[in-house]
Amino acid sequence: MSISQAVQEIPPSVPTARTVLGKPAAVMSDFLKRSWATVDLDCIGHNIEKVKELVSPGCKVLGVVKADAYGHGAKFVARELNRHGVDWFGVSNVEEAVSLRRDGIFKPILIFGTTPAQYAGTLCEYSITQAVFSTQYARQLSQAAQELGVTVDAHVKVDTGMGRLGFLTDEGNLLDSAQKIQDICGLPGLKFTGIFTHFSCADETNADAVAYTKGQFSRFMEILKLLEKKGIIFPIRHCCNSAATLLYPQMHLDMVRPGIVLYGLSPSGDCGGILDLHPALSLTCCISQVKTVEPGTYISYGRTWCAKEPRVIASVTIGYADGYHRILSNRARMLVRGRLAPVVGRVCMDQLMLDVTGIDGVCPGDTAVMIGTDGENTLTADEMATLTDSINYEVVCLVGKRVPRIYMQNGRQVGVTNYVGQTIEE
Ligand SMILES: *Cc1c(COP(=O)(O)O)cnc(C)c1O
Repeated sequence: MSISQAVQEIPPSVPTARTVLGKPAAVMSDFLKRSWATVDLDCIGHNIEKVKELVSPGCKVLGVVKADAYGHGAKFVARELNRHGVDWFGVSNVEEAVSLRRDGIFKPILIFGTTPAQYAGTLCEYSITQAVFSTQYARQLSQAAQELGVTVDAHVKVDTGMGRLGFLTDEGNLLDSAQKIQDICGLPGLKFTGIFTHFSCADETNADAVAYTKGQFSRFMEILKLLEKKGIIFPIRHCCNSAATLLYPQMHLDMVRPGIVLYGLSPSGDCGGILDLHPALSLTCCISQVKTVEPGTYISYGRTWCAKEPRVIASVTIGYADGYHRILSNRARMLVRGRLAPVVGRVCMDQLMLDVTGIDGVCPGDTAVMIGTDGENTLTADEMATLTDSINYEVVCLVGKRVPRIYMQNGRQVGVTNYVGQTIEE
């Protein structure tokens, strides 16, 4: 079955019934308070406005909402970005693109990754723009489009030093690639409306990295110049991810492609403090039991933590199956009643334990905050990234599908996306 057939058979994702656990939801706020991610759409709105202040009026903004909007939920995030006048949307694949269309996004959508040529019809039907990165792929897509009698909108992807997808532009390949791009531009069934490249270290500000990024940009300019001499001009030339949007205004060209900053997170430490960003996502769970344990008591699998004196231990409702990495065992902290409580023992699949000794009045039903603010204290995705030897991107992308996303706007809850159950919205 083709994706487009599949899409037609699935009812539109506009909810028909508000149900929780199979029963009609009494109120909008009904969701299982086990572990949940709260996404503040006002923060998304704030962040996109800050990005827009950086780019000149003639420059378009493509909001990157791949990977379900970096784990935040593409439907609500894309709608908010849409309201704030984002011109384009960027996704990784055709299913994400079609799903945006079903969620009521009618702006242009660019797929960064590959789409099997057999979906040429879907691309055309849903007016989705496809990245084209090689002659072979261009031919396949062209042939599939011709067979269906359709034309697919496309952007050429050039590899200026990322080493991922695209026509090579190093000295040895530059002329050849220009010729190849000229050739694919003549293929029937494809209409090229843009050209782009991607930076590999625009988020690093050391001299070496800056030189590399500038080198990538000049290769991009070179191939554009060669193509122009052949009479090939692309209306939309783009290369800036979040970091380059912040650090290299001279490279904005016709469009920028910010992702991570829209979610209020910095691409790296080197980019910190440039924009006033508001992190949109917080992650919360609940305490299920509190008990005082005797010295010598072991906590969790493998007996990796032992109480040396009487301690107050709280069991909480999140585990590695929710995206709370097991590597955080005996490492991370959470906020309970606004105070820091260390994770003790191994993180289990669905639960973990905190040492809440010295925090007054902790009781079952209290919340524990993993990412976000409670009282005076804040825990960030960046901190969790450091502890997991990763980056904030991965931390938010890996929030599990078992974790419902709760959407806030103007201090009100405006929707819930429950990946295990269904979508509820107001
Ligand atoms: C993911 C991605 C972006 C956005 O990157 P950020 O660092 O999140 O801003 C832009 N362009 C392409 C091609 C991407 O794959």
